[in-house]
Amino acid sequence: MTEETKEVKSLNFLEEIVENDLREGKSGGRLLTRFPPEPNGYLHLGHAKSICLNFGLAQKYGGQTNLRFDDTNPITEDTEYVDSIKADVRWLGFEWAAELYASDYFAQLYEFAKKLIQQGLAYVDDSTAEAIASQKGTPTEPGQNSPFRSRSVEENLELFEGMKDGKYPDGSRVLRAKIDMASPNMHFRDPVIYRIKHAHHHRTGDQWCIYPMYDFAHGQSDSIEQITHSICTLEFIPHRPLYDWFIQKLDIFPSHQYEFARLNLTYTVMSKRKLKQLVEEGHVAGWDDPRMPTLSGVRRRGYTPEAIRDFCERIGVAKRDNLIDVGLLEFCVREHLNKMATRVMVVLDPDPIKVVITNYPEGQTEELSIENNPEQPEEGSRQVTFSREILVEREDFMENPPKKFFRLAPGNRVRLKGAYIIECNEVIKDSEGKVTELHCTYVPESKSGSDTSGLKVQGTIHWVNAATALPVEVRLYDRLFQVEDLSEAEGDFKDHLNPNSLEIVHAFAEPSLKEASGTYQFLRKGYFCLDADSSPERLIFNRTVGLKDSWAKDQKKK
Ligand code: ATP
Ligand code: MG
Repeated sequence: MTEETKEVKSLNFLEEIVENDLREGKSGGRLLTRFPPEPNGYLHLGHAKSICLNFGLAQKYGGQTNLRFDDTNPITEDTEYVDSIKADVRWLGFEWAAELYASDYFAQLYEFAKKLIQQGLAYVDDSTAEAIASQKGTPTEPGQNSPFRSRSVEENLELFEGMKDGKYPDGSRVLRAKIDMASPNMHFRDPVIYRIKHAHHHRTGDQWCIYPMYDFAHGQSDSIEQITHSICTLEFIPHRPLYDWFIQKLDIFPSHQYEFARLNLTYTVMSKRKLKQLVEEGHVAGWDDPRMPTLSGVRRRGYTPEAIRDFCERIGVAKRDNLIDVGLLEFCVREHLNKMATRVMVVLDPDPIKVVITNYPEGQTEELSIENNPEQPEEGSRQVTFSREILVEREDFMENPPKKFFRLAPGNRVRLKGAYIIECNEVIKDSEGKVTELHCTYVPESKSGSDTSGLKVQGTIHWVNAATALPVEVRLYDRLFQVEDLSEAEGDFKDHLNPNSLEIVHAFAEPSLKEASGTYQFLRKGYFCLDADSSPERLIFNRTVGLKDSWAKDQKKK
């Protein structure tokens, strides 16, 4: 973004809130945000939005951001996820002020719960989960008080301690806040704040057998860390009064919660639970399958952190749920790769056509110089070998072309990228009529960069030298799902998987790719990167994104 557009860009509503708070000297002029993932899966692009927002605000206004693992559910959490989350946040380009774990606060949260009991604001309930659910009432009918609601403070303290000491089995008792069973806000109807779970925790091991619920862990953790702006997604709006209630009753640091719309993208799902199903049921090769919207997936596919940050900036921060066109993300990826990708030639056809240049001396080769990246002249150029026999895409030839087909056809002239103009003179076919070779002649004075032929041709095609072409595997990806808006789709989300989301092609690359690393533009074909499965014996490339920009075109039409 240029300085000019930055100036006119208006603030989003969170920036307005932060600027206002800083102006008023709230929290002593401090700004501390947090990114609070639950380590129960790999991060996805929705998390990237939250990361860019939390870290971005802190960067812009001279604050800091904590990375807090919201690890209060021992069943689903794992250290593997913790490590991947840290790697993903760093890859996106952010560094946290402190790495913290909600589980480190278990002792403090236990004390907070006792404090509520002592104030007569929490009680141990022996009701079954079903009984508690039926006591809740409905949004239009008040709930009913539990028969255990009037237990004395002493009894509650003793029972709660017994829960902690492992005296009772899972599900036999819970601790509930004592608020209002008739509240119009269902979250106020004596929410469960602790449950018994005899389970091994990835960090605290078997030290605890009671675990706090989200509502009794999140706000309290924010408060312990003195988070000034606790930013979460819209579904937490109804939890906010409870967030404030606990802070007020416990008389602890007043963190505040703010909500924004979660990121939803067309043609994909954005939920760790669903993504986990895709992995576990083998619909994709893993969390980092390049078709996945996970950060590890898009990284492997060749998306760059710069492109993702640019995308998050462009979509802005909304207060209402919406669905973003994945085409915009692809646009951002293309924008960035166009600036940095080395241009190379690869014939993406397992069955290319051989072109024999009949007036080029047999046995002769020459090195042609081809620019690495016209967007970055300082990247220089490299040598590409040219000889009498080359390979071209089968689709770049037509025996009976329509008008305006500017590629190879009998009698047509075309430029070979970085090389010469050739003319197709003869089509060789096998006994079944399939074209096997084209015999062409080249114009020696038409060499790119020093063309004195005076000939004008409309088309330029890419090619590789037949004798030195490198066989490579190329993985072409399409949308993982066939429907645009999965939230509206009927049935199970997996019914809508695109059966053709992966196509494997055996292709022929120019030999410079033997030393491949990083990102390439395969001329006329798209952006590609080396895949992690690749080995020197078997090079594998992922198509990151095609060249065609459907998104920008659609915008013009609108
Ligand atoms: P999921 O449903 O995928 O498990 P989650 O919200 O449960 O997501 P958390 O690990 O709890 O995942 O999320 C960490 C942070 O990322 C939270 O602050 C959450 O609001 C935010 N977040 C999660 N998904 C999105 C999304 N699609 N768009 C924006 N922020 C998101
Ligand atoms: Mg969650």
